[in-house]
Amino acid sequence: MSPAEGISLSISGTTRLYGIMGHPVTHSLSPMMHTFAFRQHNLDCIYLPFPVPPARLAQAVAGALALGVGGFNVTIPHKEAIVAYIDEVSAAARAIGAVNTVQVRDGTTLGYNTDGEGFLQPLRALHVPLTEMVTCMLGAGGAARAVALALLEAGCPVLVLANRTPARAERLVGVLQEHFPGAQVCAVPLAEAAGVARQSGLLINATSVGLHNAGGALLPDTCFRPGQVVYDLVYRPLYTPLLQAARRCGATIIPGLDMLIGQGAAAFQIWTGLPFPVEAVRRLLQPATAS
Ligand code: NAP
Repeated sequence: MSPAEGISLSISGTTRLYGIMGHPVTHSLSPMMHTFAFRQHNLDCIYLPFPVPPARLAQAVAGALALGVGGFNVTIPHKEAIVAYIDEVSAAARAIGAVNTVQVRDGTTLGYNTDGEGFLQPLRALHVPLTEMVTCMLGAGGAARAVALALLEAGCPVLVLANRTPARAERLVGVLQEHFPGAQVCAVPLAEAAGVARQSGLLINATSVGLHNAGGALLPDTCFRPGQVVYDLVYRPLYTPLLQAARRCGATIIPGLDMLIGQGAAAFQIWTGLPFPVEAVRRLLQPATAS
């Protein structure tokens, strides 16, 4: 029997390469997610992790171009730094100050940020009336910035930010007001967030608290109520302590995995123009977010 007999080889001389640049990148779910989606569409493409140390980022982008890579995602710690090495950056990515998706077309790199679109997708799927509700978001880091810009773009009328380091939330408020001069955006100390959280129709955790169940409770259970949507960006575990508490109190919950899949779906659409098999990908990834 030949060594290849009975084995279906899905890589050929025409296979197109995609991937994700990060450091570290071993934890990434994107290779599984995108390779699966390529297979679902019978596309001759594969997606691999590219561990790229910060000092080699420029070389990695030049190398990807030289190798004819079709496109790639970018994750921590390169999302901001890579903007300097991309030929054309979308308006949204420029406003966020970070690129998470790169398309290579005719030897040119085009940079996008799909985090905002990925964040909005699950809210749209649930028909959450964003334009009619007060939103409270905990956190003021990179993810919070992408989410806040997407929310205001989508017509969110009132956005209240609360962050452990108040100066960072104040800075983000300044950036948001620059882009959306008419928007009602303000910052409150994290210690005062509970009152606002209870009143808000949409409550978002964009801090890293809850990642691997670490960090204790961000808010008391009295903040959660029926009729409220509680969205946690953290996707490991799938149901963070915050989401568990919110669910116990009757709120509708959205796990960070939905945003992860949403940003992947938007990247896949940029690369292929094809729809992403969202439900099948969720079933595929859920076991990997167990803890
Ligand atoms: P980042 O820029 O490092 O910001 C971290 C944020 O968490 C800051 O607001 C920080 O507050 C806050 N924080 C950290 N430890 C805290 C603590 N013990 N108590 C209160 N606040 C604390 O990180 P990021 O890129 O914004 O990511 C934030 C989280 O979102 C991460 O868990 C990441 O995995 C997740 N994320 C998910 C997706 C998705 O697709 N689901 C996409 C992007 C990010 P200070 O300013 O006071 O330090």
